[in-house]
This record gives sequence, structure tokens and C-alpha cells, in this order.
Amino acid sequence: MKLFSTRDTKDSVEFSEALLNPSAAFGGLYAPEILPVCDKKFWQESENLSYRDFALKVIEKFGFDISGEIFAEALKRYKNFDDQKCPVKFTKFSENCEILELYHGPTRAFKDMALQPFGEILSKIAVSRKENYLIMCATSGDTGPATLQTFANAKNTRVICLYPKNGTSEVQRLQMVNADAKNLKTIGIKGNFDDAQRALKNLLADNEFKDELAANGLKLSAANSVNFGRILFQIIYYLFANLHFKGRNFNVIVPSGNFGNALGAYYAKKMGANIADIRIASNANNVLTELFTKGIYDLRKRSLIKTMSPAMDILISSNVERLLFDKFGDIRTRELMRDLKENRFYKLTDDELKELKNDFKAGFSNDEECSEIIKKVSEKGILIDPHTANCFKLINENGKNLIVSTAEWLKFTPSMVKAINGGMKSDEKSEMNALAEKFNVKIPKSISSLFERSEIHKDIAEQNEIKNKIIEWIKK
Ligand SMILES: *Cc1c(COP(=O)(O)O)cnc(C)c1O
Repeated sequence: MKLFSTRDTKDSVEFSEALLNPSAAFGGLYAPEILPVCDKKFWQESENLSYRDFALKVIEKFGFDISGEIFAEALKRYKNFDDQKCPVKFTKFSENCEILELYHGPTRAFKDMALQPFGEILSKIAVSRKENYLIMCATSGDTGPATLQTFANAKNTRVICLYPKNGTSEVQRLQMVNADAKNLKTIGIKGNFDDAQRALKNLLADNEFKDELAANGLKLSAANSVNFGRILFQIIYYLFANLHFKGRNFNVIVPSGNFGNALGAYYAKKMGANIADIRIASNANNVLTELFTKGIYDLRKRSLIKTMSPAMDILISSNVERLLFDKFGDIRTRELMRDLKENRFYKLTDDELKELKNDFKAGFSNDEECSEIIKKVSEKGILIDPHTANCFKLINENGKNLIVSTAEWLKFTPSMVKAINGGMKSDEKSEMNALAEKFNVKIPKSISSLFERSEIHKDIAEQNEIKNKIIEWIKK
């Protein structure tokens, strides 16, 4: 099966090509035109499969140009998760609501679900093609650590991670500046996530930069969810959840930023998961709430608000483009994306909005509400992180709900302590330990040891310095 440019379906590539070169014609993204459908037989055969075998069975349906052996190797990375047999965990919250915990991987956020296998595949293709890749990532906090982790010492790859200097939590920052392998480099940029993502998109389209890389034997790729190689693995856990619910309808509630996770849910629904609504949870940066309730994407009067859920502090939500493509086609998508670029605004027709409302509902929470929710949920003995907290307002009392939990609380100790105890009385590490003890949960060594290491990557760059810093590094 091929993937098509969201802005011109005349541009189509194989999966491996989209993985290595994620930018498509006219600035579009690669996306499937038709999704495979899981029939009754598929579900029957899947009932007793392990997560990994099930994942392979799903991937097989796509018929991509990469061998089953490579995918099987890649999925073995899930042995780096808490439960080596199953990377995801369901926790009961109430009679009609369960929590799908996706953060049991090495960097304690859901980004590991896709980036662990993704890193293995990309490195393997690079080796088989005898090519070397510079993999860029822009992060709002969790993609960076997960990308660095998955590519650490991986063959034929080097990684540049761009993070907004004051835009992440301290644990997230430490995970990045402490990344310790010769093929990794982290740069803090003066600006927010949208600035980091823009810098990345500009470099992906910069021929002079690519020539400079080529002169140093490197090709350019990206690990953000603009890369379809990430989205693939984010479809699988929704289909797995469908097995868990044994054919009953359920709503999924997804804390969303760049819309990669929610897109996985949408694709899973199209492939046959019994998902009723996909409920898009936002923080105060509620562009997506506006899109799904009013049919407008309006950046004209907005500037980014810093919230306690930094991975969702995003205004330009890249993967919405793949949804628009799926619903309305390449020509309309190109038009809407042009409007957004030129006017910082687009408006869907009434029919188009109705079409989105068939699958999506949306809402947002502010920090105060999230704090209250964290406290309330903690009274049940469950710790949820500030991103996941945005979901609880969207529970549908009349149906089954699945809240998607995207990070472990310990990446955000100050916000957690503020919500639960009123404020920090000690340093972050002590407070983290105290909270863990109170709730009888373990802190992985990978997190507790972060505070003891010295910082390796100290670079902070202005927007216009990023390119030169990268070139300087690759020449070393
Ligand atoms: C990345 C991230 C999100 C947002 O996911 P998208 O796929 O970008 O919508 C939400 N919560 C956490 C903790 C994240 O790391």
C-alpha cells in the first residue's frame, strides 16, 4: 500500500520512502488514501494474541514495502517497557470509565509506543540502503526524550533535538540535556514549540541545508508525528482496546496537541474499532475545541498560553491536515492549508463541520480545573499527569469511556504537588519521592538518576542560529 501527499495525490510513495522523507508535495504530509478494514474473522483470530503478535497482524493488513521480519524485530523493542509482554495497561477508574496507560516505556510518555519501534525500523533501513540519516525532532517535551532514547547508538543515524528553552518540565529538560551518546545532540531554542516545529519544517524544505548535509554524507529525516511511521504504531493500541472491550461501543478521550494520537484513534475507527466518539481534550490552547465545535481554525487573535500540560501547548496542530485529507480530499486540504498560512485562519462549510462532528467531540480544561481533577482522582489512589487531567470533563456518563493517559505523573512533580498538597516544600527530587511513597508507586531508575548527572548539551540558540549550530556539529 502506498501513501499519498495530503496536498496532491499525484505524489505517492512507499512506506519506507515516507519514513525517510516525510515531507510531501506542496508542503503536505503522507497519508493513506484507503485504510484496510478489520473484518469479523480478523477479530476472532486476534482474541488471544499477545500485543506484539496482534500488532504484526494489524501491520500486515497495510501491505507496506517493509518485511514482516523487520517489523517483528522493531516490535521487540516493547521489551523495554514495564511489562515485557504488553506495553499498555488498562486501569479501571469508574463503572463506565477505564484509563489506557501508554506511558510505561523508557521515557515515561506515550511517545515511546511509536518511537521505540520506529527507531529500530529507520536504523535498519538506513543500514540496508547503506545511507546515513540526520533525524530531526522538534519537541514540546516528550518527543525529544523518546527520540533521543530510541536512536541512542543506533547505526547509521544521528539525531538533532530542538526544544523550547522554557517550554518543558524540568524532568523532560534533563532527559534531553543528559542524552548520552555520540550520535545525539540537543539544542534549546529561544521560542515556543510552534517556533521549534517551524524551524524543523523550514529545514526539511531547505535545499541549501540538505546540500550541506549531503556533502557530509547525510540525508535528512524527521521523527515528529509529521512522519507517518509514527502514526502507524499509534493506531494499534486503539485496535487493541477494541479487543479489550469485546465488541462493545466505547468513546475514547484523547489529550491532544499535534493531533497524532487522536488521528490514530480516527484511523482505528475507520478500520473497524467500535469507537463511538473520539473526544478531543485540549488545555487553554483550545484551537482544536474551536475547530470541532465551530468549524473554524483561527490563529488571528491567539498567542500561545503556557499551561501545566506543556506537551499540549501547541497552536499549529500538524496532523489535523491528515484528517482534512481523509474527509475532504487533497484539493480542499491544499486550499485550507493555504488559507491558514496566508490568513492564519480557515473556515469549514456547514456540511464539512457536520462531517467532523460525526466522529469527534471536543472540549478543554484550564489549569485550575486540571489541578482539581488531579486531586480528586488522587483520592481514589490513582495518580494522573496534568495532560491526562484534561480528559475528565469529557467523560460521557451514558456510555463506556476510555481515557488515554499520555504521560506518567513524575515528569511533572511541581504541578502534581501543587494540586495535591498545595505547593512544593522541598526540591523536586525529594517531593517526587515523597509522592511516590504516599501512593505506593515506584520511580524508575532512569528518572531518579537524572538529577545526579551533569548536563551534556548546553547549547541555546536563536532561531537564525539553529542551522549553523547543526552544521557545525555534523562536521565534527
Ligand atoms: C505529545 C503529548 C500529547 C499530545 O499528543 P499529540 O499526538 O501531539 O496530540 C499529550 N500528552 C502528552 C503527555 C504528550 O507527550
